[in-house]
Amino acid sequence: MKCFKHQNIDSVGQCKHCCKGLCADCAADTGNGLACKNEHEQQVEFINSLIENSKKAYSQSPKSSVLSNLFLLLMGILFIGYSLINKNQKFLLLFGILCVAYWAILFVYNSIYLKKLKTDYTK
Ligand SMILES: [Zn+2]
Ligand SMILES: [Zn+2]
Repeated sequence: MKCFKHQNIDSVGQCKHCCKGLCADCAADTGNGLACKNEHEQQVEFINSLIENSKKAYSQSPKSSVLSNLFLLLMGILFIGYSLINKNQKFLLLFGILCVAYWAILFVYNSIYLKKLKTDYTK
């Protein structure tokens, strides 16, 4: 591949943002992929930060899913409690039961899934 701006010079790589070929003069090294110098450096750094953030979110996902599951259970209890205090709130009661049922399914599913993960780690 040749440099996009200098058609007679071989490219050393390509911009992570626009995928154009870049020669050593046109390339800016962001530390994690090349960018068009003075053009796409910010975009490439933005892409890198997005990747980093999703990696972090992925590594923290077991914790956050446990938290959101607890939130679901709390919501269910709240709805059931509210519907018991205020009668004629059948819909809320149903919704509360659904929340708790959904939480129970997730809880069982997660405990099986986490068990699998643990056994994988010990291998
Ligand atoms: Zn570019
Ligand atoms: Zn060039």
